[in-house]
Amino acid sequence: MNKLFRILAPSSALSVVIHIVLWISMIWLANIGFAYMTVDSLDYSLLYYGAHAFFVGGPFIVFVTFVTRYQIRFQKHLSLLSRKDGLTGLNNRRTFMELAQMRLDESACGTLILLDADHFKRVNDVYGHAVGDVCLKEIAHRLKWNLREIDVAGRIGGEEFAVLFAGATIEQARVIAGRLGQPIPFRAEGVEAHLSITLSMGAVLIEPDVSLDAHLIRADQALYAAKEAGRARLVIWSEPSPPPTEDGLKKSAA
Ligand code: GH3
Ligand code: MG
Ligand code: MG
Repeated sequence: MNKLFRILAPSSALSVVIHIVLWISMIWLANIGFAYMTVDSLDYSLLYYGAHAFFVGGPFIVFVTFVTRYQIRFQKHLSLLSRKDGLTGLNNRRTFMELAQMRLDESACGTLILLDADHFKRVNDVYGHAVGDVCLKEIAHRLKWNLREIDVAGRIGGEEFAVLFAGATIEQARVIAGRLGQPIPFRAEGVEAHLSITLSMGAVLIEPDVSLDAHLIRADQALYAAKEAGRARLVIWSEPSPPPTEDGLKKSAA
């Protein structure tokens, strides 16, 4: 259906004109064909059939062309709304998960980072929700500036963001996180003071046989550790060490 709409609805102004001319020409030919089939000879001149196609078919073709063009634009707009976060323009959670999964299907390597604004509720409480929104936009702006084309980013919760740095090692991700972790300035109307917000980050290295959901849980654990350790920092997830065995305990006691 989408393909049919695309055929019926040309994109540029020039193609709209070509499209309309082509359809009218087709109606013209159909008129001539119909006249041949129904009467022995053409009763009127070819120009008559052309004028007939133009005046009778033309308005209908113009109407259909513009309706389908509008329909395609509207569809694109709706698709954008359903895939992007309206405030920051980043992918929403569902789109982030889809795109990140696609990246991991192509190549299961990289680093996933979860980022959460520190004490964000205070921003809302002190300066109001609108300033909180400005702050979120600035965070998203900082993220976008530090992404490569192949990376996938999204706003996955209120003041929580996720980035999949495709193919990046932990060391490379650490460098990028260093840039993301600098305090992010934002403005509040009527406030002279320079405001800024910091991010806590939890990172995990992608492992081939581990699902995306499991990676998110690991990154979330690392993020929680970053909050616990005092915020405004990056913590990298590592496998929790197994509880000591009895043999091990005896050896360490000896
Ligand atoms: P922490 O450092 O532990 O993360 O503390 P926090 O205050 O950042 O976290 P908390 O979960 O207590 O508060 C998050 C706040 O984010 C609460 C919610 O009202 C606010 N929030 C969520 N979505 C939006 C939004 O779209 N705009 C604004 N302005 N605020 C939002
Ligand atoms: Mg927070
Ligand atoms: Mg949070």
